[in-house]
Amino acid sequence: MSVAEPILLTPGPLTTSARTRQAMLVDWGSWDERFNQLTASLCRQLLAIVNGAESHHCVPLQGSGTFAVEAAIGTLVPRDGKVLVLINGAYGKRLAKICEVLGREFCTFETAEDEPTTAADVERLLQADPRISHVALIHCETSTGILNPLADIAQVVARHHKRLIIDAMSSFGALPIDARDIPFEALIAASGKCLEGVPGMGFVLADKHSLTQAAGNAHSLAMDLHDQHDYMARTGQWRFTPPTHVVAALHAALLQYHEQGGLPARHARYADNCQTLLQGMGELGLRSFLPEAIQAPIIVTFHAPQDPRYQFKDFYERVKSKGYILYPGKLTQVDTFRVGCIGHVDRHGMQAAVSAIGEVLREMEILDL
Ligand SMILES: *Cc1c(COP(=O)(O)O)cnc(C)c1O
Repeated sequence: MSVAEPILLTPGPLTTSARTRQAMLVDWGSWDERFNQLTASLCRQLLAIVNGAESHHCVPLQGSGTFAVEAAIGTLVPRDGKVLVLINGAYGKRLAKICEVLGREFCTFETAEDEPTTAADVERLLQADPRISHVALIHCETSTGILNPLADIAQVVARHHKRLIIDAMSSFGALPIDARDIPFEALIAASGKCLEGVPGMGFVLADKHSLTQAAGNAHSLAMDLHDQHDYMARTGQWRFTPPTHVVAALHAALLQYHEQGGLPARHARYADNCQTLLQGMGELGLRSFLPEAIQAPIIVTFHAPQDPRYQFKDFYERVKSKGYILYPGKLTQVDTFRVGCIGHVDRHGMQAAVSAIGEVLREMEILDL
Protein backbone atom coordinates (compact mmCIF):
# COMPACT_ATOMS: atom_id res chain seq x y z
CA MET A 1 0.00 0.00 0.00
CA SER A 2 1.31 3.44 -0.88
CA VAL A 3 1.54 6.48 1.36
CA ALA A 4 -1.41 7.86 -0.61
CA GLU A 5 -3.51 5.09 0.85
CA PRO A 6 -2.59 4.89 4.51
CA ILE A 7 -3.37 1.99 6.82
CA LEU A 8 -6.18 2.85 9.24
CA LEU A 9 -5.23 1.87 12.79
CA THR A 10 -8.65 3.04 13.92
CA PRO A 11 -11.52 0.96 15.27
CA GLY A 12 -13.82 1.46 12.29
CA PRO A 13 -13.74 2.53 9.60
CA LEU A 14 -10.71 0.30 9.30
CA THR A 15 -8.45 -1.12 6.62
CA THR A 16 -10.29 -3.64 4.47
CA SER A 17 -8.86 -6.13 2.00
CA ALA A 18 -8.76 -5.42 -1.74
CA ARG A 19 -11.17 -8.32 -2.23
CA THR A 20 -13.71 -6.76 0.11
CA ARG A 21 -13.48 -3.43 -1.70
CA GLN A 22 -13.67 -5.23 -5.04
CA ALA A 23 -17.08 -6.62 -4.03
CA MET A 24 -18.46 -3.07 -4.14
CA LEU A 25 -17.92 -2.71 -7.88
CA VAL A 26 -21.32 -4.24 -8.66
CA ASP A 27 -24.56 -2.25 -8.53
CA TRP A 28 -27.29 -4.43 -7.05
CA GLY A 29 -31.00 -3.90 -7.44
CA SER A 30 -32.81 -4.16 -4.13
CA TRP A 31 -35.49 -6.34 -5.76
CA ASP A 32 -32.90 -8.67 -7.23
CA GLU A 33 -33.35 -12.20 -5.98
CA ARG A 34 -29.59 -12.64 -5.77
CA PHE A 35 -29.30 -9.62 -3.54
CA ASN A 36 -32.00 -10.99 -1.24
CA GLN A 37 -30.04 -14.23 -1.05
CA LEU A 38 -26.96 -12.24 -0.12
CA THR A 39 -28.85 -10.63 2.78
CA ALA A 40 -30.28 -13.95 3.95
CA SER A 41 -26.86 -15.57 3.81
CA LEU A 42 -25.37 -12.68 5.76
CA CYS A 43 -27.97 -13.05 8.51
CA ARG A 44 -27.41 -16.81 8.76
CA GLN A 45 -23.66 -16.32 9.05
CA LEU A 46 -23.93 -13.57 11.66
CA LEU A 47 -26.17 -15.77 13.82
CA ALA A 48 -23.85 -18.75 13.37
CA ILE A 49 -20.92 -16.77 14.80
CA VAL A 50 -22.66 -16.83 18.21
CA ASN A 51 -24.48 -20.17 17.69
CA GLY A 52 -27.69 -18.18 17.85
CA ALA A 53 -29.77 -19.62 15.00
CA GLU A 54 -32.16 -21.44 17.35
CA SER A 55 -32.71 -18.62 19.82
CA HIS A 56 -32.24 -15.35 17.95
CA HIS A 57 -33.19 -13.46 14.80
CA CYS A 58 -30.67 -11.30 12.97
CA VAL A 59 -32.14 -7.91 12.11
CA PRO A 60 -29.87 -5.79 9.89
CA LEU A 61 -30.34 -2.04 9.90
CA GLN A 62 -29.09 0.74 7.63
CA GLY A 63 -26.75 3.23 9.28
CA SER A 64 -23.78 3.30 11.63
CA GLY A 65 -23.55 1.17 14.76
CA THR A 66 -25.26 3.74 16.96
CA PHE A 67 -28.38 3.54 14.81
CA ALA A 68 -28.62 -0.16 15.63
CA VAL A 69 -28.07 0.47 19.36
CA GLU A 70 -30.80 3.09 19.36
CA ALA A 71 -33.12 0.79 17.41
CA ALA A 72 -32.50 -2.08 19.85
CA ILE A 73 -33.28 0.04 22.91
CA GLY A 74 -36.30 1.64 21.26
CA THR A 75 -37.73 -1.65 20.02
CA LEU A 76 -36.93 -4.08 22.79
CA VAL A 77 -37.32 -2.00 25.95
CA PRO A 78 -41.05 -1.48 26.55
CA ARG A 79 -42.11 2.07 27.33
CA ASP A 80 -42.61 1.14 30.98
CA GLY A 81 -39.25 -0.66 31.17
CA LYS A 82 -36.19 0.55 33.09
CA VAL A 83 -32.63 0.14 31.89
CA LEU A 84 -29.56 -0.18 34.08
CA VAL A 85 -26.70 1.20 31.97
CA LEU A 86 -23.21 0.06 32.96
CA ILE A 87 -20.67 2.72 32.09
CA ASN A 88 -16.89 2.89 31.94
CA GLY A 89 -16.37 5.04 28.89
CA ALA A 90 -17.88 7.10 26.11
CA TYR A 91 -19.96 4.35 24.51
CA GLY A 92 -21.62 3.52 27.84
CA LYS A 93 -22.43 7.20 28.24
CA ARG A 94 -23.88 7.22 24.71
CA LEU A 95 -26.15 4.31 25.66
CA ALA A 96 -27.49 6.27 28.63
CA LYS A 97 -28.01 9.28 26.36
CA ILE A 98 -30.02 7.11 23.96
CA CYS A 99 -32.31 6.02 26.82
CA GLU A 100 -32.71 9.66 27.82
CA VAL A 101 -33.56 10.84 24.31
CA LEU A 102 -35.97 7.94 23.76
CA GLY A 103 -37.67 8.64 27.07
CA ARG A 104 -36.92 5.21 28.50
CA GLU A 105 -36.43 5.26 32.25
CA PHE A 106 -32.85 4.35 33.15
CA CYS A 107 -30.26 4.43 35.88
CA THR A 108 -26.50 4.30 35.48
CA PHE A 109 -23.61 2.67 37.27
CA GLU A 110 -20.29 4.20 36.39
CA THR A 111 -16.80 2.97 37.20
CA ALA A 112 -13.47 4.55 36.28
CA GLU A 113 -12.32 4.14 32.70
CA ASP A 114 -9.73 1.59 33.78
CA GLU A 115 -12.10 -0.38 35.99
CA PRO A 116 -14.37 -3.11 34.58
CA THR A 117 -17.91 -3.43 35.89
CA THR A 118 -18.14 -6.60 37.96
CA ALA A 119 -20.87 -9.21 38.29
CA ALA A 120 -20.98 -8.38 42.02
CA ASP A 121 -21.81 -4.75 41.17
CA VAL A 122 -24.65 -5.89 38.95
CA GLU A 123 -25.92 -8.33 41.59
CA ARG A 124 -26.08 -5.54 44.16
CA LEU A 125 -27.74 -3.06 41.78
CA LEU A 126 -30.40 -5.53 40.68
CA GLN A 127 -31.17 -6.45 44.28
CA ALA A 128 -31.55 -2.80 45.20
CA ASP A 129 -33.93 -1.89 42.37
CA PRO A 130 -36.47 -4.52 41.33
CA ARG A 131 -37.94 -2.11 38.75
CA ILE A 132 -34.95 -2.58 36.48
CA SER A 133 -36.10 -4.68 33.51
CA HIS A 134 -33.00 -4.50 31.28
CA VAL A 135 -29.25 -4.27 31.77
CA ALA A 136 -27.15 -2.65 29.03
CA LEU A 137 -23.44 -3.44 28.82
CA ILE A 138 -20.60 -2.45 26.52
CA HIS A 139 -18.55 -5.63 25.97
CA CYS A 140 -15.33 -3.95 24.82
CA GLU A 141 -15.48 -0.23 25.65
CA THR A 142 -13.71 1.13 22.60
CA SER A 143 -12.99 4.50 24.17
CA THR A 144 -10.14 2.81 26.08
CA GLY A 145 -10.06 -0.84 24.92
CA ILE A 146 -11.20 -2.20 28.29
CA LEU A 147 -12.92 -5.59 28.36
CA ASN A 148 -15.95 -6.01 30.63
CA PRO A 149 -16.70 -9.50 32.07
CA LEU A 150 -19.67 -10.29 29.86
CA ALA A 151 -20.13 -13.97 30.78
CA ASP A 152 -20.24 -13.34 34.55
CA ILE A 153 -22.56 -10.36 34.22
CA ALA A 154 -24.88 -12.29 31.88
CA GLN A 155 -25.27 -15.05 34.48
CA VAL A 156 -26.27 -12.57 37.19
CA VAL A 157 -28.74 -10.80 34.89
CA ALA A 158 -30.32 -14.14 33.91
CA ARG A 159 -30.54 -15.30 37.52
CA HIS A 160 -32.54 -12.17 38.32
CA HIS A 161 -34.79 -12.85 35.27
CA LYS A 162 -33.74 -9.53 33.73
CA ARG A 163 -32.80 -8.97 30.09
CA LEU A 164 -29.34 -8.19 28.81
CA ILE A 165 -28.56 -5.85 25.92
CA ILE A 166 -24.96 -6.14 24.76
CA ASP A 167 -23.16 -3.52 22.70
CA ALA A 168 -20.63 -5.92 21.17
CA MET A 169 -19.80 -3.49 18.40
CA SER A 170 -16.03 -3.73 18.71
CA SER A 171 -15.81 -7.36 19.87
CA PHE A 172 -18.27 -9.30 17.69
CA GLY A 173 -16.47 -11.78 15.47
CA ALA A 174 -13.17 -11.53 17.34
CA LEU A 175 -13.99 -12.30 20.97
CA PRO A 176 -16.00 -15.46 21.64
CA ILE A 177 -19.67 -15.03 22.60
CA ASP A 178 -21.89 -18.12 22.59
CA ALA A 179 -25.65 -17.57 22.79
CA ARG A 180 -26.05 -21.07 24.27
CA ASP A 181 -24.00 -20.09 27.34
CA ILE A 182 -24.54 -16.33 27.50
CA PRO A 183 -28.21 -15.45 27.72
CA PHE A 184 -28.94 -12.15 25.99
CA GLU A 185 -31.98 -10.35 24.70
CA ALA A 186 -30.02 -8.38 22.12
CA LEU A 187 -26.48 -8.22 20.84
CA ILE A 188 -25.56 -5.30 18.64
CA ALA A 189 -22.67 -5.00 16.19
CA ALA A 190 -21.89 -3.50 12.79
CA SER A 191 -20.37 -4.17 9.41
CA GLY A 192 -17.24 -2.08 9.71
CA LYS A 193 -15.50 -3.45 12.81
CA CYS A 194 -14.00 -6.89 13.51
CA LEU A 195 -15.71 -8.49 10.52
CA GLU A 196 -13.64 -6.09 8.39
CA GLY A 197 -16.46 -4.92 6.16
CA VAL A 198 -17.08 -1.29 5.29
CA PRO A 199 -19.24 0.91 7.52
CA GLY A 200 -22.91 1.45 6.69
CA MET A 201 -25.01 -1.19 8.41
CA GLY A 202 -25.55 -2.40 11.94
CA PHE A 203 -27.32 -5.54 13.02
CA VAL A 204 -29.09 -6.73 16.11
CA LEU A 205 -29.22 -10.38 17.12
CA ALA A 206 -32.52 -10.31 18.98
CA ASP A 207 -34.12 -13.00 21.09
CA LYS A 208 -36.91 -14.46 18.95
CA HIS A 209 -39.53 -14.37 21.66
CA SER A 210 -38.70 -10.80 22.76
CA LEU A 211 -38.74 -9.54 19.19
CA THR A 212 -42.17 -11.06 18.60
CA GLN A 213 -43.46 -9.32 21.70
CA ALA A 214 -41.92 -5.98 20.74
CA ALA A 215 -44.59 -4.84 18.28
CA GLY A 216 -45.60 -1.27 18.99
CA ASN A 217 -42.75 -0.48 21.40
CA ALA A 218 -40.72 1.63 18.98
CA HIS A 219 -40.83 5.39 19.07
CA SER A 220 -39.77 5.61 15.43
CA LEU A 221 -40.78 4.11 12.13
CA ALA A 222 -37.32 3.77 10.59
CA MET A 223 -35.77 2.41 13.79
CA ASP A 224 -38.44 -0.21 14.48
CA LEU A 225 -36.63 -3.55 14.45
CA HIS A 226 -39.85 -5.49 14.86
CA ASP A 227 -41.19 -3.97 11.67
CA GLN A 228 -37.83 -4.31 9.92
CA HIS A 229 -37.71 -8.00 10.77
CA ASP A 230 -41.34 -8.62 9.97
CA TYR A 231 -40.99 -7.07 6.52
CA MET A 232 -37.81 -8.97 5.76
CA ALA A 233 -39.30 -12.27 6.94
CA ARG A 234 -42.31 -11.76 4.66
CA THR A 235 -40.61 -10.41 1.55
CA GLY A 236 -36.93 -11.32 1.79
CA GLN A 237 -36.23 -7.64 1.18
CA TRP A 238 -35.04 -4.76 3.26
CA ARG A 239 -37.71 -2.31 4.37
CA PHE A 240 -36.52 0.95 2.73
CA THR A 241 -33.43 1.23 0.49
CA PRO A 242 -30.71 -1.22 1.54
CA PRO A 243 -27.01 -0.26 1.67
CA THR A 244 -26.39 -2.66 -1.22
CA HIS A 245 -22.64 -2.13 -1.59
CA VAL A 246 -22.11 -2.44 2.15
CA VAL A 247 -24.02 -5.72 2.19
CA ALA A 248 -21.99 -7.07 -0.73
CA ALA A 249 -18.73 -6.01 0.93
CA LEU A 250 -19.70 -7.61 4.23
CA HIS A 251 -20.65 -10.80 2.43
CA ALA A 252 -17.21 -10.87 0.79
CA ALA A 253 -15.55 -10.04 4.11
CA LEU A 254 -17.35 -12.96 5.76
CA LEU A 255 -16.17 -15.36 3.05
CA GLN A 256 -12.60 -14.33 3.89
CA TYR A 257 -13.36 -14.53 7.63
CA HIS A 258 -14.33 -18.19 7.23
CA GLU A 259 -11.49 -19.00 4.84
CA GLN A 260 -9.02 -17.59 7.34
CA GLY A 261 -10.36 -19.81 10.14
CA GLY A 262 -13.30 -17.87 11.58
CA LEU A 263 -13.38 -16.46 15.08
CA PRO A 264 -10.39 -18.31 16.58
CA ALA A 265 -8.15 -17.10 13.74
CA ARG A 266 -9.49 -13.54 13.88
CA HIS A 267 -8.96 -13.47 17.63
CA ALA A 268 -5.45 -14.88 17.31
CA ARG A 269 -4.43 -12.32 14.67
CA TYR A 270 -5.76 -9.39 16.69
CA ALA A 271 -4.15 -10.70 19.89
CA ASP A 272 -0.86 -11.00 18.01
CA ASN A 273 -1.30 -7.45 16.63
CA CYS A 274 -1.98 -6.18 20.14
CA GLN A 275 1.05 -7.96 21.65
CA THR A 276 3.30 -6.73 18.85
CA LEU A 277 2.04 -3.20 19.38
CA LEU A 278 2.39 -3.24 23.17
CA GLN A 279 5.89 -4.64 22.97
CA GLY A 280 7.08 -2.25 20.25
CA MET A 281 5.58 0.83 21.87
CA GLY A 282 6.99 -0.27 25.24
CA GLU A 283 10.45 -0.34 23.65
CA LEU A 284 9.88 3.27 22.54
CA GLY A 285 9.04 4.13 26.14
CA LEU A 286 5.32 4.62 25.50
CA ARG A 287 3.10 3.29 28.29
CA SER A 288 -0.34 1.81 27.75
CA PHE A 289 -3.21 3.16 29.87
CA LEU A 290 -4.76 -0.19 30.83
CA PRO A 291 -3.15 -3.11 32.66
CA GLU A 292 -2.85 -6.12 30.36
CA ALA A 293 -5.35 -8.22 32.32
CA ILE A 294 -8.27 -5.99 31.27
CA GLN A 295 -6.95 -4.98 27.85
CA ALA A 296 -9.04 -6.33 24.95
CA PRO A 297 -7.02 -7.06 21.78
CA ILE A 298 -9.05 -4.48 19.85
CA ILE A 299 -7.63 -1.04 20.52
CA VAL A 300 -4.88 0.21 22.83
CA THR A 301 -4.82 3.56 24.64
CA PHE A 302 -1.34 5.01 25.17
CA HIS A 303 -0.30 7.85 27.43
CA ALA A 304 0.90 10.79 25.35
CA PRO A 305 4.63 11.47 25.74
CA GLN A 306 5.27 13.87 28.62
CA ASP A 307 7.10 16.41 26.54
CA PRO A 308 6.14 20.01 25.69
CA ARG A 309 7.13 19.32 22.06
CA TYR A 310 4.36 16.71 21.78
CA GLN A 311 1.10 17.83 20.15
CA PHE A 312 -1.31 15.13 18.96
CA LYS A 313 -2.18 16.96 15.73
CA ASP A 314 1.46 17.32 14.66
CA PHE A 315 2.25 13.74 15.74
CA TYR A 316 -0.83 12.45 13.86
CA GLU A 317 0.06 14.30 10.64
CA ARG A 318 3.64 13.09 10.69
CA VAL A 319 2.63 9.44 11.32
CA LYS A 320 0.00 9.76 8.61
CA SER A 321 2.61 10.96 6.11
CA LYS A 322 4.44 7.68 6.81
CA GLY A 323 1.31 5.72 5.97
CA TYR A 324 -0.54 5.12 9.25
CA ILE A 325 -3.66 6.73 10.66
CA LEU A 326 -3.83 6.87 14.46
CA TYR A 327 -6.80 7.76 16.63
CA PRO A 328 -7.08 10.55 19.19
CA GLY A 329 -7.62 9.68 22.84
CA LYS A 330 -11.09 9.88 24.32
CA LEU A 331 -10.23 10.38 27.98
CA THR A 332 -10.97 13.64 29.71
CA GLN A 333 -8.51 13.38 32.60
CA VAL A 334 -5.37 12.07 30.92
CA ASP A 335 -3.70 12.99 27.62
CA THR A 336 -3.72 9.84 25.47
CA PHE A 337 -3.88 8.57 21.92
CA ARG A 338 -5.17 5.26 20.60
CA VAL A 339 -3.97 2.64 18.15
CA GLY A 340 -6.37 0.05 16.76
CA CYS A 341 -5.38 -3.62 16.42
CA ILE A 342 -8.27 -4.53 14.12
CA GLY A 343 -8.68 -4.47 10.35
CA HIS A 344 -6.86 -6.10 7.46
CA VAL A 345 -3.45 -5.83 9.08
CA ASP A 346 -1.09 -8.31 10.70
CA ARG A 347 1.96 -8.18 12.99
CA HIS A 348 4.20 -6.96 10.15
CA GLY A 349 1.86 -4.02 9.65
CA MET A 350 1.92 -3.33 13.38
CA GLN A 351 5.72 -3.51 13.49
CA ALA A 352 5.93 -1.08 10.57
CA ALA A 353 3.51 1.27 12.32
CA VAL A 354 5.61 1.17 15.50
CA SER A 355 8.74 1.94 13.44
CA ALA A 356 6.97 4.91 11.86
CA ILE A 357 5.90 6.16 15.29
CA GLY A 358 9.49 5.82 16.55
CA GLU A 359 10.84 7.80 13.59
CA VAL A 360 8.28 10.54 14.15
CA LEU A 361 9.11 10.83 17.85
CA ARG A 362 12.79 11.23 16.92
CA GLU A 363 11.94 13.85 14.28
CA MET A 364 9.94 15.75 16.88
CA GLU A 365 12.94 15.41 19.22
CA ILE A 366 10.74 13.72 21.79
CA LEU A 367 12.74 10.52 21.68
CA ASP A 368 16.44 10.59 22.01
CA LEU A 369 17.44 7.21 20.59
C1 LIG B 1 -18.04 1.79 17.00
C2 LIG B 1 -18.85 1.58 18.23
C3 LIG B 1 -20.21 1.96 18.29
C4 LIG B 1 -20.93 2.60 17.13
O1 LIG B 1 -20.38 3.78 16.74
P1 LIG B 1 -20.79 4.41 15.33
O2 LIG B 1 -19.91 5.61 15.24
O3 LIG B 1 -22.22 4.73 15.37
O4 LIG B 1 -20.49 3.36 14.31
C5 LIG B 1 -20.91 1.67 19.43
N1 LIG B 1 -20.32 1.07 20.47
C6 LIG B 1 -19.04 0.69 20.47
C7 LIG B 1 -18.48 0.00 21.65
C8 LIG B 1 -18.25 0.94 19.33
O5 LIG B 1 -16.96 0.57 19.31
